[in-house]
Amino acid sequence: APAGMAEAAGKVVRRLIDQGHEAYWVGGCVRDELLSRPVHDMDLTTSALPEEVIALFERTVPTGLQHGTVTVLLDGFGFEVTTYRTESGYADHRRPEQVFFVRDVKEDLRRRDFTINAICCGADGKLTDPFGGAEDLRRKRVRCVGAAEERFDEDALRMLRCVRFAAVLDFAIAKNTWRGLLRQRDQLAHIAVERVRAELERIVEGPHPLRGLGMLARSSLLARGKAPFPWTGPDLAAAAASTAGIGELQSAHRRWALLLHALKQSANEADELLRAWTFPGATRIAVARVLRVGEAWTAALQEVPPGTPGGTETLRRRWIAAVLDQGPQAAAGWLAVLRVLPGDGAAPGHGGGGPDAAGEWLSRMPLSSLAELAVSGGDLAELLQKRPGPWVGQLLQKLLFAAAAGDISNERQVLLQEAKRMDGYE
Ligand code: ATP
Ligand code: MG
Repeated sequence: APAGMAEAAGKVVRRLIDQGHEAYWVGGCVRDELLSRPVHDMDLTTSALPEEVIALFERTVPTGLQHGTVTVLLDGFGFEVTTYRTESGYADHRRPEQVFFVRDVKEDLRRRDFTINAICCGADGKLTDPFGGAEDLRRKRVRCVGAAEERFDEDALRMLRCVRFAAVLDFAIAKNTWRGLLRQRDQLAHIAVERVRAELERIVEGPHPLRGLGMLARSSLLARGKAPFPWTGPDLAAAAASTAGIGELQSAHRRWALLLHALKQSANEADELLRAWTFPGATRIAVARVLRVGEAWTAALQEVPPGTPGGTETLRRRWIAAVLDQGPQAAAGWLAVLRVLPGDGAAPGHGGGGPDAAGEWLSRMPLSSLAELAVSGGDLAELLQKRPGPWVGQLLQKLLFAAAAGDISNERQVLLQEAKRMDGYE
């Protein structure tokens, strides 16, 4: 945990206990501590009522009073302190209709989703673990607290959380829990797209994406989601060979690009899907750009059949045009995707057409944006004594291409001379 966090949380726990209440660390922080994984925040559970918690600390935020949660601010940290509670009446398969405060911490642990998340730890380090969570951590498995089928019916998001924990922790899913998930999978239709997407991001962007994708494929869980997604069991299973290397990709954008490519989505389709799935615009744009580089590259490979005289040079120029269109980030992203595709994505027969050649061409580009070009639009208008217009941008692009391809050097005098020549041609 970040330096000082455990000490600050300890102060909160001790102050509650000194005032005659019970208080424990609970949930993710206990689980991650037992697994020796980094702890990013610490949640506390207490017998004290929310108003008692508020009265005990100088700085508090009423984060979720109706659910009994108060955030206590101390020594620069924030801790969610939640009163022991149970829940009942999950009418919409997501949120409990009623929350009752209870006296016994075991009652509180019973409402939690998985045994590994239902362990609490006292100030003395002693664990309260009525459902065998520590044993499940040892056996590396995710198991529902209580009857899985019921627990997934109460709150359908738990099914995706189940897959997410299994994927992130590299755990198995206990047999009965898996069976319950299969029985309740249609209920995922009740869950808001944003919440599904947030879990998917953690699965795909986590340390064992393939594990999660395999479980999603085998369960067909996502076929029932609210937004359209080509993630029915068979689609994902068919994509399995192409996504085998997904874990080797270090960036989230590249992983989504690989996955969408494996699911046979064009750049435009991917863009629409990511929008429907409420991904942030920046992600959507970055992923679509990677796929656009892929489309341009594939088209170039098809239009330049192996053995074409000068084919390698034609390919190189097409590649450079794609880099300039979509940006070097996206181009490097596509190459990374190609490298983890089966067979390297290399075009058979194209001696110079594999990702290594393209990577070499990319790294040799002296520049890749107009901002790096040694002349500006103003320079051109002045030089050619013409009124600025769309011609300026077009000429700049031509100069950029020529300099990026190494036809001319990126020097002011050279570029101005070339501009004159290009202008004279038209
Ligand atoms: P992480 O923060 O790494 O995702 P976490 O276990 O802290 O893991 P949170 O979503 O922060 O997960 O929830 C905190 C705790 O609240 C969980 O450990 C679990 O005990 C309980 N919990 C969270 N969501 C649910 C749910 N949908 N149903 C039942 N219990 C839940
Ligand atoms: Mg948490």
